Amino acid sequence: KLYNLVQDLKGHIRVFCRIRPTFCAEGRNVIDFIGEDGSLVISDPLKSKKDGRKVFQFNRVFGPSATQDDVFNDTQPLIRSVMDGYNVCIFAYGKTGSGKTYTMSGPSGGSTKDLGINYLALSDLFEISNQREDIISYEIKVQMLEVRSCTTDNGLSLPDATLHTVKSPSDVLNLMKYGEVNRVVCSTAINNRSSRSHSILTVHLHGKDAYGNMLRSCLHLVDLAGSERVDKSEVTGDRLKEAQHINKSLSCLGDVITALAQKNSHIPYRNSKLTLLLQDSLGGHAKTLMFAHVSPEEDSFEETISTLKFARRVS
Ligand code: ADP
Ligand code: MG
Repeated sequence: KLYNLVQDLKGHIRVFCRIRPTFCAEGRNVIDFIGEDGSLVISDPLKSKKDGRKVFQFNRVFGPSATQDDVFNDTQPLIRSVMDGYNVCIFAYGKTGSGKTYTMSGPSGGSTKDLGINYLALSDLFEISNQREDIISYEIKVQMLEVRSCTTDNGLSLPDATLHTVKSPSDVLNLMKYGEVNRVVCSTAINNRSSRSHSILTVHLHGKDAYGNMLRSCLHLVDLAGSERVDKSEVTGDRLKEAQHINKSLSCLGDVITALAQKNSHIPYRNSKLTLLLQDSLGGHAKTLMFAHVSPEEDSFEETISTLKFARRVS
């Protein structure tokens, strides 16, 4: 309880870590221990158990057996505060293949089972909106944006920036499908770029009560580009520039969240398009949650450490 209170005072930055299930039966699992209190112990596969151990502490750690509902249950209070006028930002951070899209959207392949936070959050907002019908009337609009590095339009590309009014969870499902279709077309056309762009689902909420009091807030649900470092030997020219640009936007995001957590007087929002776009929902009275996604396999160890360090820096 006290720990949560301290976290709340620290600029409302929360970090949840999620470890996805492993896909191969062989090979060492680097995860040693997951604590109920948000602690995580991992060990370097190249060192002895004693020397290679590293301990991290987050607000919460979800192991490979955690379900979408488990994750949503702990995210729900934050999402619900949007209905009371708070701006909220939820990010999924991690290397490609670590489970970011699974957490935010759901399993790959478009299954309607095990849907992720995007859908569960919107369903919840509709439910509360119905419950409060007699007291306050809400209007919910959603918008899907994709931020990618582009030499032509200076780093910000908006394939579907239209605001859509949504009235039910099925409206949202339809929109999400439409968004997926857009992305698939893009990624096959231009070399799997979805892992090199940030997808943002923004929910705009407008409430009005019988006395004419208004409330406006928004919820940004962000599936970030893969955080893997660029391998310079494999990438050249425009693709290298693109990768560097995306990596820079991730480190700028880290700088902004770190500055907020440390209560610095200067917050470097202007250093990237991503942070500029989300400025109103980062800091101030806004609430931020970052999911740090990691894979349990030993060959991902370096990336796992770098993700955990990034997450520790912003918490
Ligand atoms: P990312 O978006 O970080 O690149 P994905 O979400 O696409 O990663 O996950 C990679 C693969 O692992 C996908 O096939 C996804 O469905 C699966 N996956 C990820 N996390 C989980 C999980 N917690 N449980 C089951 N499958 C998962
Ligand atoms: Mg993804």
